Amino acid sequence: MGGKHNGPAEPRVALRVRALESLLIEKGLLSTEVVDEVVRVYENDIGPMNGAKVVARAWVDPEYKRRLLADGTAAVGELGFGGRGGGDRLVVVENTPAVHNLVVCTLCSCYPWPVLGLPPTWYKMPAYRSRAVLEPRKVLSEFGLEVPESVEIRVWDSSAEIRYMVLPERPRGTERLGEAELAALVTRDAMIGVARVGALV
Ligand code: FE
Repeated sequence: MGGKHNGPAEPRVALRVRALESLLIEKGLLSTEVVDEVVRVYENDIGPMNGAKVVARAWVDPEYKRRLLADGTAAVGELGFGGRGGGDRLVVVENTPAVHNLVVCTLCSCYPWPVLGLPPTWYKMPAYRSRAVLEPRKVLSEFGLEVPESVEIRVWDSSAEIRYMVLPERPRGTERLGEAELAALVTRDAMIGVARVGALV
């Protein structure tokens, strides 16, 4: 990995976190199980909640959606999300009936932290990083997402400078839902592009 991806600050922060974690565990103030649980919650629930709010706002407010697609960094900033770890620029790419977007970092694990939290383990694995580019349709199928041949798949390679988030399609049957209810439907995987937002039954 080079300077274009995780800058020197990220490994340094990771080392300090690791050192702090070891110290707390040694002093008996924290267990590894608790740490694992916190990380799991941050990967799956807390982190992606910011992105889910952004998506729900874009679904209910066409003017916000226009700003989000034009300048992702500024638009998520309007909702109070941003800061370190997000790269210089956030680019939001929109799924449509004709185009499906998929996000990867082929060199390491660049990820839009301010909107999605911590990357899942599979996002950092060499298999995902290489195969997402070479055979995206097959990779998506392994995630349980069948994308018809008629739909174009666009793969976006993240870097320290530009990080990507997918704006999923709003599912049918959600016309009566409010913004908070819509946000509750949006998953991390849908914003990486390995899943759709499920329709209500
Ligand atoms: Fe990277």
